[in-house]
Amino acid sequence: MGPLDDELTGLRSRRAFMPLLGRQVVTASEQRVAMALVLVDVNGFAQVNGVHGYGIGDEVLRHVAGVLRSVARPQDYIARIGDDRFALVLTRMMNRGHVELAVQKLQRLLEPVFQASAVRLNVPVTIGIAMCPAHATHADHLLRRAEAALLRARRGGETVGFAPDAEADLDISDVWDLEMQLGGAIERGEMSLHYQPKIALANGRVVGVEALMRWNSLARGAVPPGVFIPVAERIGTIRKLTIWALNTALRQAGQWASPGGPTEVSVNIPSMLASQPDLPELVENALKLWAGEHVQLVLEITEGSLMDAGRAFPVLKQVRDMGVRVSIDDFGTGYSCLAYFRNIPADELKIDRSFVASLLDDPASADIARLIVDLAHRFGLTVVAEGVEDEGTLERLKDLGCDVAQGYYFSRPVPAGDFVDWLGMRTAA
Ligand code: C2E
Ligand code: MG
Ligand code: MG
Repeated sequence: MGPLDDELTGLRSRRAFMPLLGRQVVTASEQRVAMALVLVDVNGFAQVNGVHGYGIGDEVLRHVAGVLRSVARPQDYIARIGDDRFALVLTRMMNRGHVELAVQKLQRLLEPVFQASAVRLNVPVTIGIAMCPAHATHADHLLRRAEAALLRARRGGETVGFAPDAEADLDISDVWDLEMQLGGAIERGEMSLHYQPKIALANGRVVGVEALMRWNSLARGAVPPGVFIPVAERIGTIRKLTIWALNTALRQAGQWASPGGPTEVSVNIPSMLASQPDLPELVENALKLWAGEHVQLVLEITEGSLMDAGRAFPVLKQVRDMGVRVSIDDFGTGYSCLAYFRNIPADELKIDRSFVASLLDDPASADIARLIVDLAHRFGLTVVAEGVEDEGTLERLKDLGCDVAQGYYFSRPVPAGDFVDWLGMRTAA
């Protein structure tokens, strides 16, 4: 325990927390990834102390701290920032849904009655959430927005409150503009797919490609997928974009797929579509249109899409029965429970870039990668490492038994024409 830690819980103290929040806000905007600040406040804590004594009060606080520890992933941070107030910083969040999953887990763990010495207690909490950059891009503002969200939730008798979207810090008209322009982007020919090869580690062969969406807006220039995909998900345009991507990827890959060359093309499917009962139909329509002999379609779905296994599993099973492969993307970043592996309707698992990037420097990442490889193989899944940028990492992945690699080391995602050129050069060499 360091000098800045909270003695009672071993968590960071408020003093240590503010500089940390400041750094995380900067990292989030530099890396263009979202981050969430989740405040957890114990309801009626003064009464617990008053009725049961301070000893029991302390146990309650340690209990909440323990629950927060089990929700936090290695890249997250926890602090006790007030008597009965805790802060959880969730870094590298894909979107709001991702945050909601973490909060649901927190609520689930706090639900059961807690046994403090001889006393059985409910530990009700109120939670306030604000996200960076959506709600604020400065640590002080972010904290204020989360505190305001908590207060509003408590006044309204709710247990969880999100800071309202697109207020003071965000230019509302700009968001509307983006939404409007996204609507007609396909028709204006602004969307395209870039392709990145996937290489088998055993023999260096190009086994497939991943299709990644690009938006080159006439009005605003290139907009990164990390910005427009979440907007498209929120306003529903993602469905149309996904159908377009399925058709475009099958059409273009049909031109280069050959028995000796890459045969697979992977398309990313957003989580909201992964459990839609009509996903098999959308896929079948595209397959019928572009029935190429050599193209094997792979659907990449994120780990979070499987949370609702009851809905997602039957849909994905149907897709697989059509001969389409299913790949679990960004694996290791979600909150999945291992139990679902037993019946998982998938063929491939992609280790998230964050573990691959720190493979050589961070023993914990290497351990996680090894666990993922072993786990996946045990259940008959192929393992792909994403974000491989150098030879050292590649060699390490071979040692770990990883099957396939993808990353800048081989090629950045490039337009279809450039990919065909790259492929030609590689086969000639
Ligand atoms: P993803 O599916 O995990 O895609 C991999 C991302 O890692 C891509 O970012 C790719 O350019 C990047 N990448 C690949 N190799 C390296 C490397 O060696 N180093 C580093 N630093 N990065 C590497 P991109 O294209 O910006 O896409 C970001 C995310 O946006 C994707 O993550 C995916 O979740 C989403 N996305 C992209 N295209 C689509 C799409 O067509 N549909 C849907 N639903 N989502 C998409
Ligand atoms: Mg992907
Ligand atoms: Mg990925």
